[in-house]
Amino acid sequence: MHAILQQQHGNPSSIHSYGREAKGIIEDARKVVAHTLKASVGEIFFTSSATEANNTILSKAIPHFNITKVITSKTEHPCVADTLVHLKEVHPFDLISLDVDSQGNISLDQLETILKQPGKAMVSLMHTNNEIGTIHDTQRIGNLCNQYDALYHCDAVQAIGKTTIDVHADYYSFITSSAHKFHGPKAAGFFYMNSDNIIPPLLHGGAQERNMRAGTENVYGIAGLATALQYMVTHLATHQIQLHELRAYFISKVQEIHPDIHILGNQDKDFAPHIVSVSFPPFDYADMLMFNLDIAGIAASSGSACSSGIAKTSPVLLAIDHPEDRVAIRFSFSIFNTTEEIDYVIQTLKHLLP
Ligand code: PLP
Repeated sequence: MHAILQQQHGNPSSIHSYGREAKGIIEDARKVVAHTLKASVGEIFFTSSATEANNTILSKAIPHFNITKVITSKTEHPCVADTLVHLKEVHPFDLISLDVDSQGNISLDQLETILKQPGKAMVSLMHTNNEIGTIHDTQRIGNLCNQYDALYHCDAVQAIGKTTIDVHADYYSFITSSAHKFHGPKAAGFFYMNSDNIIPPLLHGGAQERNMRAGTENVYGIAGLATALQYMVTHLATHQIQLHELRAYFISKVQEIHPDIHILGNQDKDFAPHIVSVSFPPFDYADMLMFNLDIAGIAASSGSACSSGIAKTSPVLLAIDHPEDRVAIRFSFSIFNTTEEIDYVIQTLKHLLP
């Protein structure tokens, strides 16, 4: 990214050599993303974020394919949940938001019952929940979508670069991702669109991204996205072992602090090792816990990053029936974290809890 910012000033739409060089950088990045997902290069489109990617897909696919019902869940990220509520006003369709159990899992039987009913359906279910780490059964969801001829949109922001995704194995129609979730730069994302389900563009006025997203491309962001993704998939197996070890270490230590500390989301299977949501028992000044962790130099979160700072109970915590008098804090781990850092978090929590 440094090299491109310092030396590569060509506009990828220009036909001179500097432009062609910039275009080459983007196309090389597209190959990396396509290869990672076992997709074709023509099925990958770069965007400014996953939010833009999700908005593009939902707002264009629903009217274009005459979707009459959209099936989602109560634990989707706001850039899917709020977008669907907005779109329903503009272009009426049945919006079915599936309930989840106390770990954040949907009922696949309920999904199938709804898919069996008449009408062209789109299923919009995330891969990995960003607040509690629960992973949906994408294989069975994809099979059901295939069986009932429904489109399958999957927000895979918390999964890309952290697990293997094969667009054909799970019958995905659309997948979205954001580079900063796998150590790439902020404001660079992409979507995969199966070549059987081409949607019209959201942004008009330029031929960039093969007419799918007008506007001069973020060349250094796209290059950073691909470099980070390449790094993550190359080291995936080692990273997964590292993250599972960090998670297990943290959970064992945090549960020693107090008998009434629980871990939210799936525990035995179908969980992401990089997200640990901890439910603390009620105590005086519990609402100051995150603030005090911050003062101690520990960056944790109480909801999704986009909504933290706003005093509102997270829809995910509401959906899993997390009691309102308890405080849930999400600790996220990366391969750059250490057990020493976890020890420091544990020591800090011991001081902060009564
Ligand atoms: N989807 C999920 C599951 C997320 O966790 C996030 C960000 O936290 C997004 C979508 C939005 O990503 P971005 O803000 O990069 O558009």
